Amino acid sequence: MNPVNLGKGEENMHTDGNGRDWEAIRTDFPLLAREVNGKPLIYFDNANTAQKPIPVIAAVDGFYRRHNANVARAMHALGAEATDLYEDARERLAMFFNVRAEDLVLCSGTTFAINLVAYSWALPRLRPGDTILVSRMEHHANIVPWQLIAERTGARIAVAEILPDGRLDLDALRKAMTPDVKLLAVAHVSNVLGTVNPVRDICREARRHGIVTVVDGSQAAPHRKVDIAAIGCDFYAVTGHKMCGPTGTGALWARKEHWRSMPPFIGGGEMIREVRFEGTVFNDPPYRFEAGTPNIAGFAGLGAAVDYLDSVGLDRIAARESELLAHATEELNRIEGLRILGSAPGKAAVISFLIDGAHAHDLATLLDLEGIAIRSGRHCAHPLLQYLGVAAACRASLAFYNTHEEIERFVAAIQKARRLLG
Ligand code: PMP
Repeated sequence: MNPVNLGKGEENMHTDGNGRDWEAIRTDFPLLAREVNGKPLIYFDNANTAQKPIPVIAAVDGFYRRHNANVARAMHALGAEATDLYEDARERLAMFFNVRAEDLVLCSGTTFAINLVAYSWALPRLRPGDTILVSRMEHHANIVPWQLIAERTGARIAVAEILPDGRLDLDALRKAMTPDVKLLAVAHVSNVLGTVNPVRDICREARRHGIVTVVDGSQAAPHRKVDIAAIGCDFYAVTGHKMCGPTGTGALWARKEHWRSMPPFIGGGEMIREVRFEGTVFNDPPYRFEAGTPNIAGFAGLGAAVDYLDSVGLDRIAARESELLAHATEELNRIEGLRILGSAPGKAAVISFLIDGAHAHDLATLLDLEGIAIRSGRHCAHPLLQYLGVAAACRASLAFYNTHEEIERFVAAIQKARRLLG
């Protein structure tokens, strides 16, 4: 039996996205068929977390029904199957991102991944006088770990600013790459502005200056083809739940030379080779960084998720989402008093917006009554919203399984809410 095929079996024979139309693909996501407040659900909160297709749900269910055991430790058949599933997820993720599996540490998500770089790479290295360069558009997960490390090491944080349309100011960024800068933390795609940063060029330039790069790929991975090897960064972090996989899954890729030189971050079982009270010999990377029992069922699901995304096709997904984005942007721009934050060319399908005289939370609440899920608030990006002079914004974030009809209902619901709030 090959447990790696779990999730592609009898539960759903219609999960191969290739060649299927979007309507058919949408039926792979059972949750999208439900109602909220008596209305058909419109799920426009995909940047927060993506919905899960049947193969992912089946893989998690199948793991607990047929394979549940711990990884690595068990000498029995179930243990071997669980280990196969977990390691197979690593292989599939590595193929998906065009990297080697042994350079991929599996973890709970981007937040853990960036903290791993912070505590294991940066903490032992940074000194007073060193600088950590962070872009203005970062999520708190790519700001706060650096602040904690700066506090402990005496390093300082410098900010790479943005232009009015939401692009990174690349000239300023280049000038900011001074000899004291040891690390650059930058999002591949902004979760507020939708800006797609030219991470390949940025990382090449940083490398010329001897600056180590940490790319937060949370918002990129599910929406476009991500080739980590081609980007040429030092570290790349991803989170599984935004890639149609289960929550509590993710990965950190690093160049081999970094893994080799990094001390463990969390200690415990699985990450050791030999433990004596006099001292411990650690396992090789990536296992050195995977202490304790992992989210095995979650990774079975994430393996199925990357297969699913591949079967639909990342290029197809990107094209579909940019078509939905263009439609939504055009419709929203017709609404008087509505302002979209971020209009960088080639942006991702993330639309943060404000309406004159309407508080973001009020608007989101009224939309919820219409069965429409969007996010409102500060989107874990306080420094960006402060800079934009915005107290709170609404955010509609689209995925390939959304539809043009949903966009029209969304726009009509905003018009209605605006009348009520105005
Ligand atoms: N970075 C970005 C750009 C994000 O959008 C998110 C999730 N909102 C994160 C990091 C954190 O991801 P997680 O909570 O899955 O660790």
